[in-house]
Amino acid sequence: MRYLITGACGFIGSNLVERLLTEGHRVIGVDNLITGRIENIEEFLNTSNFTFMNHDVIEPIDIEEELDWIVHLASPASPPKYLKYPVETMRVNSEGTLHLLELARRKGAKFLFSSTSEVYGNPLVHPQTESYWGNVNPIGPRSVYDESKRYAEALIAAYRRKYGLSVRIVRIFNTYGPKMDPNDGRVVSNFITQALKNEPITIYGDGKQTRSFQYIDDLIEGILRLMEVEYHEPVNIGNPEEYTIRDLAEMIIKLTDSKSKVEYLPLPEDDPERRKPDISCAKRILGWEPKTAVKEGLLKTIDYFRKLI
Ligand code: NAD
Ligand code: UDP
Repeated sequence: MRYLITGACGFIGSNLVERLLTEGHRVIGVDNLITGRIENIEEFLNTSNFTFMNHDVIEPIDIEEELDWIVHLASPASPPKYLKYPVETMRVNSEGTLHLLELARRKGAKFLFSSTSEVYGNPLVHPQTESYWGNVNPIGPRSVYDESKRYAEALIAAYRRKYGLSVRIVRIFNTYGPKMDPNDGRVVSNFITQALKNEPITIYGDGKQTRSFQYIDDLIEGILRLMEVEYHEPVNIGNPEEYTIRDLAEMIIKLTDSKSKVEYLPLPEDDPERRKPDISCAKRILGWEPKTAVKEGLLKTIDYFRKLI
């Protein structure tokens, strides 16, 4: 198969590129390196099945060769990064998605979009099912991410209705693992780098807010399975094991054998209080569920960060 992957130098993109190349596929990776790292794909640059294009997908894109799949992952994803790049984030999910949907139409390719659990905002329904419409502040600081992802989902649904395009929407819940940027600002990368350096672990708010953490290999498997079925509605892909941020800090301190103490900092505006996926749809349609226990995934991620720091 021939894949175009946007966001190929990012955390999820580079892991997906690696898996597809290992399986013998042809991959064109597109990225403008706004939050990604070229190191993530350096080892593939001399592979004949892989081509890298440094391109901003806010601009229209044309590709000469034929494509079977367009996988649109490009977007700042970490809250500090999308708050730093608010307009770029809105544009990559809106204009970027539009250009890539048009490319999919021209090529007769299928289209997969990385949406997010953030479309549920600060959820009033727990755990979150795909049928829940969410509780999002449309003009709050996080709206640049949440609302542009919601717009993208709406645009994709419109392309499906109007042109019959074969589309997939993955609502990804907090994912972690090797190839994350240690300076990304997300909780798992922050806590592991802080713990490895014996620096204070920065908990925002009282640390009682919850998240459900999924290991990258489980996400990649879920994405690949979704590509194999004709299902055009959004699908939650996440690990339903739910932890408070305090629990996570304690686990990471223990697993790294760190001397770090916990430091409490203000909670960012509109930070969701709890989050946990209902994955019955993925189980039913894909026969998928996460296989990696949090402890096992964290240990693999800690190994990766140890080599970087
Ligand atoms: P990341 O920041 O590591 O990767 C995003 C990549 O997109 C980066 O390499 C960046 O340079 C690139 N990019 C951004 N804007 C671009 C543009 N205009 N043109 C070309 N390239 C551009 O983030 P990630 O964690 O790998 O996330 C990938 C996708 O998955 C994002 O769309 C994100 O919203 C979604 N997602 C991720 C998570 C998670 O937990 N990691 C959760 C939900 C959704
Ligand atoms: N968080 C924290 N300390 C950090 C980074 C994040 O306590 O150093 C909290 C953050 O406020 C949120 C949770 O951890 O409640 C998850 O944050 P992250 O940025 O990883 O992703 P989010 O789920 O908010 O998009």
